[in-house]
Amino acid sequence: MKYANVIVDITHEKLDKVFQYSIPEELSESIHPGTQVEVPFGKGNRVINAYVVEITDRAEYDESKIKPLCRIVPDSIPIESQLIEVAAWIKENYGSTMNRALKTVIPVSRKIREVRNGYVELACSIEEAKTAIDKFSSDKRMASRVKLLNRLVMENIISEKVITGEMGISKSVIAALKEMKIVDIRYDTVYRNPIHEQSLMKNGVKEHTLNEYQNRIVSDITGEMNKSDGKRVHLIFGVTGSGKTEVYMKCIEEVLKKGKQVIMLIPEISLTFQNVSRFYGRFGDRVSIINSRMSAGERYDQFKRAKNGGIDVMIGPRSALFTPFENLGMIIIDEEHDGAYKSETVPKYHARETAIMRAGLNDATVILGSATPSTESYYRAQTNEYMLHVMEKRVSGRKLPRVQVVDLRQELEAGNRSIFSRTLTELIKDRLAKGQQSILFVNRRGYAGFVSCRSCGKPLKCPHCDVSLTYHKYSGREYMKCHYCGYTIDKPEKCPECGSKYLGRFGIGTESVQEKISEMFPSARVMRMDTDTTSGKDGHEKILSAFSKGEADILVGTQMIVKGHDFSKVTLVGVIAADLSLYASDYRASERTFQLITQAAGRAGRGEDEGEVVIQTYSPDEYSIVAAAGQNYEEFYKNEISYRKMMGYPPISNIAAILFTSADEKFGKNAASDIAARIKNSKIDGLNVIGPTEAAVAKINDIYRFVIYIKHSDYNNLVRVKDGIERYIEMVPVYKHKLNVQFDFMPMDNY
Ligand code: ADP
Ligand code: ZN
Ligand code: ZN
Repeated sequence: MKYANVIVDITHEKLDKVFQYSIPEELSESIHPGTQVEVPFGKGNRVINAYVVEITDRAEYDESKIKPLCRIVPDSIPIESQLIEVAAWIKENYGSTMNRALKTVIPVSRKIREVRNGYVELACSIEEAKTAIDKFSSDKRMASRVKLLNRLVMENIISEKVITGEMGISKSVIAALKEMKIVDIRYDTVYRNPIHEQSLMKNGVKEHTLNEYQNRIVSDITGEMNKSDGKRVHLIFGVTGSGKTEVYMKCIEEVLKKGKQVIMLIPEISLTFQNVSRFYGRFGDRVSIINSRMSAGERYDQFKRAKNGGIDVMIGPRSALFTPFENLGMIIIDEEHDGAYKSETVPKYHARETAIMRAGLNDATVILGSATPSTESYYRAQTNEYMLHVMEKRVSGRKLPRVQVVDLRQELEAGNRSIFSRTLTELIKDRLAKGQQSILFVNRRGYAGFVSCRSCGKPLKCPHCDVSLTYHKYSGREYMKCHYCGYTIDKPEKCPECGSKYLGRFGIGTESVQEKISEMFPSARVMRMDTDTTSGKDGHEKILSAFSKGEADILVGTQMIVKGHDFSKVTLVGVIAADLSLYASDYRASERTFQLITQAAGRAGRGEDEGEVVIQTYSPDEYSIVAAAGQNYEEFYKNEISYRKMMGYPPISNIAAILFTSADEKFGKNAASDIAARIKNSKIDGLNVIGPTEAAVAKINDIYRFVIYIKHSDYNNLVRVKDGIERYIEMVPVYKHKLNVQFDFMPMDNY
């Protein structure tokens, strides 16, 4: 007898363990780890779905009590057995149920009907067809049959679409002729290809001869690949425009030569036509992409092509990591520092770490690339865990842009109350006169940060969340919106607290910058790019391409605009308020500030003309701003790593956040305190427990939030704490019902 160990597909109930079922004889050949099955569950034998994680000969319980499973879920897609291992690792390292982890690694769980094109052709000889035509001609009601057969005699094969469309003949006519064995229908499965190849042909991508720096990196990486104990992880630290992408492509070529496959991750926002077409031009239809705007059907097709060996290179965001390639040879993570590689939902896995784990299963190589590497990765390269490759110069020999820092406090002293410094204003004027383009970067969407009362000082807050509402203005309507829960109201006339009518706006956002620019330079054409203007299917692509075609003089935007786009006519970049990202109180604030400014600055001067960058700030001495102004990563890193050492933050130590949420404030608070006390008693040497405290955003959508941070030099000890808490909660029924606990290893934001 064979048994299947399964994980049941029930999310709300805490049934996160393996259940065993016997496999009926007739199914024994077709059930494997990864198969989705239906099983009778619980006392009532309700039929539910489950994932098989293991097949075994050993009964774990009394054999007579083991129920047989029902059947394979119709139209389901099995999970690769290797991805089950990845899921188990994710569950263990990031905290989640196995069910959720499995769902994470299986991006589409059901077959989506393939789009099929039907073609109608003659099933008989031309002679026989002509005989049939003669026969039908005598009957007026058979006119459609005659029409179709006449055309088939001439053309041999006609697509169903043409017959039912252009010719106006119904499907029943085709079916009748098929029934009579006069015609046949042939189906081609057409994979929904997300890229329209025709537009690519026009693009024509040329292959460059690599320069000596690029060649050395390629040969170093391939050298390690061919050694039995070579380095698995490589970090390419190369300034923007240094030719990293060309290096990736050459490495991909080497892997493909060995008959292996490649996954390349790029941040979703950078998945633009411009970026992807280079890969299509080089590798043709062996490449595919996925992104979150694709339909489930389109994504299903791409995964199926990967599984069937129809493609060898998959490009996509975080989730592309789970492409079911049989013989994975390499995973490339471009812009490896990007925050989007960390999942915001449970399991909160990091694609970089998970990629390294998955690569380990295949003996595959991982390449991380960035102009501003994460402190973690650079540290691991310094400590020789990763192999470091440096590219200091731009390929073109073009210089990095000239950067000036403007101290906004001095502007104020000089009587300038505008959000634009005098320097920046002059330079914008100059670019407009020369017909060159400028980019203004503000890391906040909306209008003003918030509105508060000038009489009582209270900001307007969301009634459901512990955050200030953000001011927006759209076609004349002034309204306030919560960026956490979406709550929206018209801007009140009076302060809801004290009734004063003096409500003032503070802070800035993309909308107010756009408005101010238009006031100052009425003839300038200004575009704005943020989540509010890019919601459509190809929203951001449209704005980017319009801007690169020169349809605007100035582009105002959030961090969306700073990622990897190449605008050759941009010669000025203004960072309006470099401090915005510094105010965030989490330990990554400086790193993020440095990255944003450096990447923003990198947008300037990518064409013929030299670029200039103006950074406006209230803290010109802050090391992340000084280093970014000097485009000096090393200097930033030196400061950052000593700060992390001093504070015991990653990568020197490990930190995990445990977030408790509950609709009942008091209950949530008590539960968090109880659990914190238990952790403190757990006698793990060197464990540091901080909290519980109210989360930085103490309430979202009427749910209260409390947080505990735990720190330890050994990551495994944090995992131990997590396991202990999970077991404990399992034992306390009231916690199971009224409390939600989430783990975040390597938290990126403050809770
Ligand atoms: P990165 O990915 O580091 O930003 P890219 O690989 O996109 O850099 O290269 C920047 C530009 O230089 C691209 O337009 C690319 O086509 C060009 N380029 C890269 N390598 C070479 C080379 N060896 N010879 C000529 N041009 C190159
Ligand atoms: Zn007031
Ligand atoms: Zn809200």
